[in-house]
Amino acid sequence: MSQSVPSLEVLNALPRVQQPTYPDPQATAAVISHLRSLPPLVFAGECDDLRNHLAAVAHRKAFLLQGGDCAETFAGVNAANIKGKLRVLLSMAVVMTYAGQLPVVKVGRIAGQYGKPRSNDTETRHGITLPSYRGDAVNGFEFTAQAREHDPQRLVGVYNASAATLNLVRAFATGGFADLRGIHAWNADFVRNSNVEARYEALASEIERALAFMMACGIDDDQLSTVDFYASHEALLLDYEHAMTRIDSRSQLPYDCSGHLLWIGERTRQINGAHVEFLRHVRNPLGVKLGPTTTGEDAVAIADVLDPDHEPGRLTFITRMGSKAVRTNLPRVIEAVEATGRKVVWSCDPMHGNTFEAENGYKTRSFADICDEVNGFFDVHEELGTWPGGVHIELTGDDVTECLGGIDQLAEADLAHRYETACDPRLNRNQSLELAFMIAERLAD
Ligand code: PEP
Ligand code: MN
Repeated sequence: MSQSVPSLEVLNALPRVQQPTYPDPQATAAVISHLRSLPPLVFAGECDDLRNHLAAVAHRKAFLLQGGDCAETFAGVNAANIKGKLRVLLSMAVVMTYAGQLPVVKVGRIAGQYGKPRSNDTETRHGITLPSYRGDAVNGFEFTAQAREHDPQRLVGVYNASAATLNLVRAFATGGFADLRGIHAWNADFVRNSNVEARYEALASEIERALAFMMACGIDDDQLSTVDFYASHEALLLDYEHAMTRIDSRSQLPYDCSGHLLWIGERTRQINGAHVEFLRHVRNPLGVKLGPTTTGEDAVAIADVLDPDHEPGRLTFITRMGSKAVRTNLPRVIEAVEATGRKVVWSCDPMHGNTFEAENGYKTRSFADICDEVNGFFDVHEELGTWPGGVHIELTGDDVTECLGGIDQLAEADLAHRYETACDPRLNRNQSLELAFMIAERLAD
């Protein structure tokens, strides 16, 4: 592990993709320098704690649940929205912990998930072509020339939005909201109208009885009233991530203090590219997305660069092969990496390989395909004798209609009803809980 991070100038001289094109270099430099002066959003010791939890996952002693929006928005920084996401993630984690009888490491796609890679640089509507929306970190969602301009000042907006979100997340995690003894209250303001809800309520009652028994025996531990919850996002925007990097006063090692866990996307994981070069120097736990064309050699080459010391917890491979390719393509990737002797976390992103456009133009995913990929992931690991360590899900706490199927049997005609995502379609609350029960069954097997 190198002691210091390469300068932004050195990184910018490397092949780098999916970066904004700012009109005014001086204004950009001023923003970067301002960000460098601001306090860290997360702390090195917390990143180390998460790395240790992920090491437990790599050693089959825990399971990873990572989830949240595809793209957070500045407008979404409000208590109801943040609480909704936390509530669904905690509910899912409870279901999995109880069934699997093992700890679930909880990581949000939250407090920093504001930059998006795009397949096309431009978007055309009614004969007008404008730059694509690249997340609130880069430009505005509105389809106007002004909104779509790349504005470096938005990076300060990312910092502020992330700070406000983390502040509330930390309060919820330790201030009583996450107390297992209030497990019923997490869902008190939801209409109890679904089968999934009834299943969840039954489980919550069972847990409540177990807790009451423990308390009657005099066991009343802090662990029941607080929760470890970590923040993650795609480390896409090099200017921002570099500016948020700080040297830890204890170890003198660099940490990217914009989030606890950072991942490299499918489009930016080039082995000689700027993203891999930057992230190999920071001590945070890292994720890397692996799509359906990944070979075993590709994965090993990435692991050799990002995890040269074979350190469990350092590297999480987030595979997103799609339901059709998972059973054929995943085994060779796992086998090649396991043959190096290192222990990585294998996590399944069943979202990004299963996206398609519905007849009516909505970008969507079907709940059945998502379940099929998760099942394929578990089957492959079962066959190889390796540990299916976790899942990576795009979800929201709201009752949106963005993905098809699930308990409410959402059809293409329902998509228009509540399609609110700024980027990819997310599972709604019921679909998320239903998936959690399915995963719980696989964990209990
Ligand atoms: C994402 O996680 O939103 C994303 C863009 O994923 P991927 O890099 O796997 O396509
Ligand atoms: Mn996405």
